[in-house]
Amino acid sequence: MNITTSNTINNNDNIQQSPNTLTTTPVSISTTPPIHSSNNKFYLDSDNNNSSTLDSSNILLNSVKKKDKSTSIENTDWGKEYDNEKKKLEELSNLIQISKRPSTNVVKVSQLDSSKLDDEILDLLRTQFMKVFMFFKPNFISNFQPEINLILKSLIFKLSIFNLGTTYGNQLQNLTYRNEAAFDPRGGSDKLIKLTQRQKWMSGIFNIGGEWLWTRIQRISINDAWSERPPDDIRKRLWNLLNLMESAYKILSILNFLTFLYDGKYVTLVNRLLRMRLVYAHPSLSRRISFEYMNRQLVWYGFTEFFLFIMPLINVDKIKGFLYRMFLKSTFGKSGSANGGAHSNNPNALPVQNKHQLAEIQHQLALQKCPICIMEPINIPYSTDCGHLFCYYCIKVNTLIDSSFACPRCNSLVSRIKRYTGVDE
Ligand SMILES: [Zn+2]
Ligand SMILES: [Zn+2]
Repeated sequence: MNITTSNTINNNDNIQQSPNTLTTTPVSISTTPPIHSSNNKFYLDSDNNNSSTLDSSNILLNSVKKKDKSTSIENTDWGKEYDNEKKKLEELSNLIQISKRPSTNVVKVSQLDSSKLDDEILDLLRTQFMKVFMFFKPNFISNFQPEINLILKSLIFKLSIFNLGTTYGNQLQNLTYRNEAAFDPRGGSDKLIKLTQRQKWMSGIFNIGGEWLWTRIQRISINDAWSERPPDDIRKRLWNLLNLMESAYKILSILNFLTFLYDGKYVTLVNRLLRMRLVYAHPSLSRRISFEYMNRQLVWYGFTEFFLFIMPLINVDKIKGFLYRMFLKSTFGKSGSANGGAHSNNPNALPVQNKHQLAEIQHQLALQKCPICIMEPINIPYSTDCGHLFCYYCIKVNTLIDSSFACPRCNSLVSRIKRYTGVDE
């Protein structure tokens, strides 16, 4: 028989029998439902105010509802029928006891999130702790980094897994560890099977002690240059062994993670070995993080990424110059055209009659401010087609980023620049 449970039943669904229809003594039937329906309680109130509480699944609810209909039609045979139904209920409760309960599915992202949260809690603590050693030599701290990690992790471990049976990150995600080795998928109690002392100790030793030992050995081996020893040296052999172990651990971790993605049971290798499975601490609670907020966050993140990607591709100065010329064109008409040369009918162009006069005006300009950077005097002056002077850096950069750069003084197109050396040349 396939038993399916659902959360669609209202948890406060109370079925009240009218007092005069109940004649038999109330029978207490206690069955243990699958996890999700543990809160479905309804009461049968009899005339002598005794009540029997039924903890029941969907099927039991349906059978009681059926009975409710029949009693309203035929009151006299109620007792007999109740006995019949009671037998059915007992059969069903036995069936539930022996049948396999639906497997618990824990959202994978919650499990991954909780380990992230744990890392961040450790980081917070470590940052605060490190401030104590602010005035010590930096060498001193880095020498004892593995030991500091060991102490802080042990502290958190003692306060979380050892005392509470779960980590802080797990608690935030409504998760807790279950001793999967002692868990019976058939019927039985829904009571959370807590971790044994052995599991707690082993996970602490593997996760915290193991990590400390590994970093220590690695530091020693690197400082002592084990990898550069002759091949028959014991330290070189140890080095090879360590590398082999590291590779094996990494491969196993990847395999474990792939398995986790498939069955969603154990995030880490140690948890799988010790059979410490994350399950919901309160099955009736849903995920606490609002997806609306998360989606908004994701959209904003995506938008920022896109913007940062697109920004370097946009030539802001070119757009600015283009808009500037457009504005000038519309304001001053065709005379301010960007295509105008030095000797066009451009009113802003230099009023040049001969070469001598141009040199005279340029000499005056050279002492003035550069129109781009407004620095005085112009640094390494360069002359444009129109004869106006700019710093070399200013005009070079502007013509490089915008091929249709117009002279800020006369708005004529700058196609080439040349060094201005003074009146003599
Ligand atoms: Zn300049
Ligand atoms: Zn000009």
